[in-house]
Amino acid sequence: MNIHELSHYLNVPRDIVIVSHRNPDGDAVGSSLALGRLLRKAGHTVQMIMPSEFPPIFNWMPDIDRVWIYDHRPDDAIKAIQKASLIVMLDFNSLDRIDRMGEEIHHLTDTRTVLIDHHLDPEPIADLMFTEVEASSTSELVFDFIREAGWLSQVDLEVATSLMTGILTDTGSFKYNTRAVLFHKVADLLGYGIDLNELQIRIFNTLPVKFLRLLGYCLHRRMEILEEYHTGIITLSKEDYERFDIQRGDTEGIVNYLLMLQQVKFAILITEQPTIIKLSFRSKGDFSVQEFARDHFKGGGHRNASGGAIYGTLSKTVKKVKSLLPQYAQSLKSA
Ligand code: 5GP
Ligand code: MN
Repeated sequence: MNIHELSHYLNVPRDIVIVSHRNPDGDAVGSSLALGRLLRKAGHTVQMIMPSEFPPIFNWMPDIDRVWIYDHRPDDAIKAIQKASLIVMLDFNSLDRIDRMGEEIHHLTDTRTVLIDHHLDPEPIADLMFTEVEASSTSELVFDFIREAGWLSQVDLEVATSLMTGILTDTGSFKYNTRAVLFHKVADLLGYGIDLNELQIRIFNTLPVKFLRLLGYCLHRRMEILEEYHTGIITLSKEDYERFDIQRGDTEGIVNYLLMLQQVKFAILITEQPTIIKLSFRSKGDFSVQEFARDHFKGGGHRNASGGAIYGTLSKTVKKVKSLLPQYAQSLKSA
C-alpha cells in the first residue's frame, strides 16, 4: 500500500485506531492528537490509544480527553484494535513498545496498518512504512504525510499546535535534530496562528516546584562524572521517588543537564522503577547511544537519544554500566 492508495481508501468513512508508545512524550501525544483530529474532521471514526499515561503537562492539548490509556481500559483498547479497519502507529519502531496491543496487532490479518516514525532501525511492522531517521520528530513526518496525502486543507490551528508541540519537545526547542527543511515546515505551521512564545511557556515553563527541587537534588547529590570516559551518570532510587513524590514524566529532561558539561559526551540517567531499572542515554557528537542501548539494554532510539531497561537492582545496573565503559573509552575520546 502506498500513500495514494491509502488516501483513496480513506475516501469513505473508516474505523481508525491511532496508537503510540508507552510513557508517551510530547511527540507521541502531539502526532497522535494532530492526525486524530484531522482524520475525524474528514469524517472517520478515530480512537487514539496510548499504553500508559502521558505527563500532566499535556493536559491542555486539543482533544486530549479523547485519548484512551490502555492501562486504564485494556479490554476496550483491545476491542477497538480488533474492530478497526486501519491502524496508524506513531513514534515507535517495534511492536514491543506497545506491549499487549503489539501482540494483538501482530496477529491481525485483514487490518491495514501504517507506521509513521523517525527512530533508527524500524522493524517492518506495517503495510505502509512512512519512516525517516533524519526527521526531527514523528510530528514533522505527520505534517509531511498530511501534505503528501493531499489533506492540507483539513489542517487547523489545533492540528498545527499539536504538531508544533511534538517538534518543540523532540528538538528541545530547536536544539537537536534540526535541518533547514524543518524550519520551512515550522514557518508553515506558525502560519495557522500559533503563538510560539505562549506555546513554549505552556510546555517548558509550567513545571511544579518539586521538579526543580528534584533537579537540584540530582545535580547536587546524585551526579557522578567519570572524566576518563567523558561520561556523566545520575541515579534515582525508589526511595528518591517517594521522597520527591516523583510521577511519570517528572524525570524528563534531567539527563540533558549532564551534556551541558564541557567534558561530558555520554549522559546516563538510571532510575529504579517498580519492576524494572530504566535507563536514558544521551550523547553529543558521534557517539551512538542507540548502539549502546541496543547492545546492552534491549533498547534503542536515536543516535544521540536512546533508552533501554533491565531487570535487576539499581546498584548492579550502575556496576554493569561502569564495567562497559572501558571498551568505549576510545570512541568516547574521539567522539
Ligand atoms: P527517553 O530516554 O526519553 O525515555 O527516550 C529517548 C529515546 O529512546 C526515545 O526516542 C525513545 O523512543 C527511545 N527509547 C526509550 N526507551 C526505550 C526502550 O526501552 N526501547 C527502545 N527501543 N527505545 C527506547
Ligand atoms: Mn519522537
